[in-house]
Amino acid sequence: MATLDSKLVSVVGDRTTKVLRDLFGYVTVGDLLHHYPRRYLVRGELSDIAELNEGDEVTILAEVFSATSRRLHARKGNILEVIVTDGSAKLSLTFFNQAWREKDLKVGKQALFAGKVGVFNGKRQLAHPDYELIPDGNDVDAAVEGFAGKYLPMYPASAKLPSWKIAQCIELAIGALDEVPDYLPESVREKYGYPTLHQALVQLHNPADLDSAEKARQRLTFDEAFMLQLLLLSRRKELKNLEAVARPAKSGGLLDAFDSQLPFQLTAGQNTVAQEIAHDLAQPHPMHRLLQGEVGSGKTVVALRAMLNVIDNGGQAALLAPTEVLAAQHLRTMQKLLGPLAQGGMLGGSDLATQVTLITGSQNAASRKDALALAASGAAGIVIGTHALLGESVAFKDLGLIVVDEQHRFGVEQRDALKSKATNPPHLLVMTATPIPRTVAMTVFGDLDVSTLRELPLGRQPITTHVIPVLEKPGFLERAWERITEEVSQGHQAYIVAPRIAAGTSEDSDMDFLMGESSAEIASVEELGPLLSGGALKAVKVAPLHGRQSAELKDSTMQAFTNKEIDVLVSTTVIEVGVDVPNATVMVIMDADRFGVSQLHQLRGRVGRGTSPGLCLLATNAEPESPARMRLDAVAGTVDGFELSRIDLEQRREGDVLGASQSGSRSHLRLLRVLRDESMIEQAREDASTIIESGISQYPLLAAELAQIQADAAAEYIDKA
Ligand code: ADP
Ligand code: MG
Repeated sequence: MATLDSKLVSVVGDRTTKVLRDLFGYVTVGDLLHHYPRRYLVRGELSDIAELNEGDEVTILAEVFSATSRRLHARKGNILEVIVTDGSAKLSLTFFNQAWREKDLKVGKQALFAGKVGVFNGKRQLAHPDYELIPDGNDVDAAVEGFAGKYLPMYPASAKLPSWKIAQCIELAIGALDEVPDYLPESVREKYGYPTLHQALVQLHNPADLDSAEKARQRLTFDEAFMLQLLLLSRRKELKNLEAVARPAKSGGLLDAFDSQLPFQLTAGQNTVAQEIAHDLAQPHPMHRLLQGEVGSGKTVVALRAMLNVIDNGGQAALLAPTEVLAAQHLRTMQKLLGPLAQGGMLGGSDLATQVTLITGSQNAASRKDALALAASGAAGIVIGTHALLGESVAFKDLGLIVVDEQHRFGVEQRDALKSKATNPPHLLVMTATPIPRTVAMTVFGDLDVSTLRELPLGRQPITTHVIPVLEKPGFLERAWERITEEVSQGHQAYIVAPRIAAGTSEDSDMDFLMGESSAEIASVEELGPLLSGGALKAVKVAPLHGRQSAELKDSTMQAFTNKEIDVLVSTTVIEVGVDVPNATVMVIMDADRFGVSQLHQLRGRVGRGTSPGLCLLATNAEPESPARMRLDAVAGTVDGFELSRIDLEQRREGDVLGASQSGSRSHLRLLRVLRDESMIEQAREDASTIIESGISQYPLLAAELAQIQADAAAEYIDKA
C-alpha cells in the first residue's frame, strides 16, 4: 500500500518514474495525485459541431480534414491549426508550440475532441483541445462504446507522456493508496460540506459524475487558498514578533523642519497613511507595509517623511528604485524638496541637515567611492540606488528603514538582500503604483499591512485618453503631431512612446504575453525620432530616450527634459514608472496594443501631473472589435487603476500574477485563480486567521503540512540564490 509520501517507484515502473520526474519534477505519489485533470471527456454526450455555442465545454467525435503548422512572426513559436469535420460542419482547433501533435492528427484520423468553445476572428474554435484518437481500423461506434468508465479525465500532457498514460499511472496510484489522513480541520471541512482529502483526490481523478468532480475541485482549490493564507499569516506573525529599533516621531527635528517648508499641504489620504507609518515606526517590531497609490498620488513625499522620521532617531534610510532613470530622479526630487536640509556638513546647510546620496551600477569610481563612504559613515541619512545597493561593498552605519519603490519589479529575495545590511531588522515600506484588488494583495502581499492612497493632490487635472485607430483614421495621427506642436508653443512638453528601440527589438518582455500575430511594422524610437524631427515635429526640440543608451546620456537627457531644454521625448517604456515632469501634458503611445493595460495606465500617468490637463492618445493598428482594441477602449474609458488592474489580471496567467516562486509544476497553487476565487480566498483568510490565533499546534496534521510547505518555499529560495 502507498501513502502520499511514498516514492513513485512503489506504484509505477522505473521508466515511468523517470519520465514523471524529468517532465514534471514529480517524486512522490502525492505529487502525481496533485496532477489534476484539465477536463473530462464525456462519452455519450457528444455534440454536433453545427450546434456549438461559445463558452460551452464540449466533446465531439470528428475526423481530421486538414492540418497545417506555421511559424509566428510577432513572437517566438509556431501554431498548428487543425480543421475537423463531423459531417454537419467544420471546426478549427489550434495548438501553440505543439507541432508534435501533427503526427497524431493526420488527415482522415478520427478522434474524440474535448475543450471549451471560443471564437477567434469570428470563427468558432477550440484552443488546445484534449483528444483521444480512435484506433485505426476499428468500427468507430464500437470504439467509442468500448472505452470503459464514463468520465475520462484529460491531463496536461506531452509527447513523451500522453494523457491516457498519465491516467493509467494515477489509476495505479489510487489503487494502492491507503486512506489519506486529512489535514484540514474538521470544523472547516464541515462548514463548507467538503469531501475529505481522500475522497476529493479519488473523485477528481475518477468522478462518479461531474457534480462530485466539481465538489472535489472546490475542496482542493480551497486547500490551496487556505494553506497559502496560513503560510502568509504565520509569516506575518513571526515578523511581528521580531525585534526592531523603535523610531518614534520627535518634535523639533528634521521632519518638523521639512514639514514647515513643504510648498504644499498633504492630502487627507497622505496624512492618514503618514499616521499609519509613524505608528508602525514607533513600535519595537519591524514595520512591513505596502503603500499602494494611484499614479501621481504623491507616494514619494510620504516615503521621504518616513525616512526623515528615522533620521531623527539616528538611523538611515535606503530607497531602492527599479531603474537608473528613476533613481536619479528620486535623488533630484528629494534634494529639491529638502533644500538646505539636504546639505548636512556643508556651508549654509542647516544644523539638522542630512545628506542624500546615490549608488548605481554605472556611476564612475570616484563618485561611487564618495557615496559608499557617506553611507558607511552614516553622513548620508538617505541612500538612493538601483540593484547596485544590494552589492557587497555597500554598508550602512545604522540602516533603519528600507523603502522599495515600484515593488512589482523587485522580488522578496532582493528585499531580503537589503535587509541583511542592517544590524537589527529594519522597517520596510514597499510602494507600488499598480493598485491591485484586495484579494490579490492578500495573496501576493499577504504578509504585509496595506495602506492605500486613492485620491490625487488637489488641483490635479484629469487625464483624457483617446484611441487613434490609425488604419481607419490616418489623419488623426497628423492631428496628434499638430497638437503636440501647439502644446509646446504654449510652453508645455510631450512624450511619444514606442514599443521598440530599433526595428526588430523589444524593450520589454512584458509584451510576450500578448498573443496573436501581426506582420505590421511596429514603431521604434530609432526610426520614429528622426522621422518626426525631420517632418511633423520640425518646429520643436525632439530627443530619443531608451534603455540601451549609456546611463550618462539617459540622465542628461532626462535633466534636459526636466529643464525644458527638450520639448518632446521619443522614448520606450523606460519612462513608464515614476518619471515626474509636471510640465508634460501630452503623450502619444504608438502601437499601444503592444502594451499591457496596467502598463498603459502607468505610462499615461506621466502627463497631467501639473495643473494643466493631460491628454493621452493611444495609436493602434488593431481592428475594431478585436480584443486588443477593446483593451485600449477600456483604458480610455476609466482612470481607476483598481478597475484596470482587474482587466489586466484577467488576461495574465496566474504565474505572472503570483510571481515565479509560486507557480510551476511543483507549486502548491495549481487550481487557485486569484480573481475567479476571490470570495473563497477571503473565507480562507478568515479561517486561517482563526486557526493561527487559537494556535496551530492544536492541529498537528495541519501544522505538519504547513511546515512542509514552508520547507519547500525555503528550498526554492535557496535554489534561486
Ligand atoms: P507617485 O505616487 O506616482 O510616485 P509622486 O510622489 O511622484 O507620485 O507625486 C507626483 C507629484 O505630486 C510630485 O510632483 C509631487 O511633488 C506632487 N505632490 C505630492 N503630494 C502633493 C500634495 N499634497 N499637493 C500637491 N502636490 C503634491
Ligand atoms: Mg513614484
